[in-house]
Amino acid sequence: MRVTGRDVVVGAALVRGARVLAARRSHPASLAGYWELPGGRVEPGESDGDALRRELLEELGCAVLVEHRIAQVELAPGRVLRVYAASLADPAGEPCAVEHGEIRWVPAEGLGGLAWLPADRELLPELRRMLTRA
Ligand code: C5P
Repeated sequence: MRVTGRDVVVGAALVRGARVLAARRSHPASLAGYWELPGGRVEPGESDGDALRRELLEELGCAVLVEHRIAQVELAPGRVLRVYAASLADPAGEPCAVEHGEIRWVPAEGLGGLAWLPADRELLPELRRMLTRA
């Protein structure tokens, strides 16, 4: 039983050059086919950064450097998505779609063409700003 706090989900705006990594979900069935910024739930006792590093290692098989928070979006009452700028710890490394159907490096002009989860779609203006500065 939950006794305190709110559910926090963390996502990464993983940027390389002027592209951000988008990931197409393959599960659960209700979310399959939608694109998201990779990430997942913060477990008890974890910091947001710890959770993001763990999730991206599991989902993409690569170590990342977590930078500043760029946004917070409400997913549902009591549940938020916090998104952090991030970069590959090894810039020459290539993430793998370990848990997703597909991953793609997307430039600012390609963001609008993907079927994003609703919360992630709200972040597109901020992602475009980040990428045009990158
Ligand atoms: O990845 P995981 O299933 O742990 O994420 C928990 C929930 O957070 C998902 O059900 C999804 O609706 C939401 N989520 C999201 N955008 C993300 C990551 C997760 O809306 N970038």
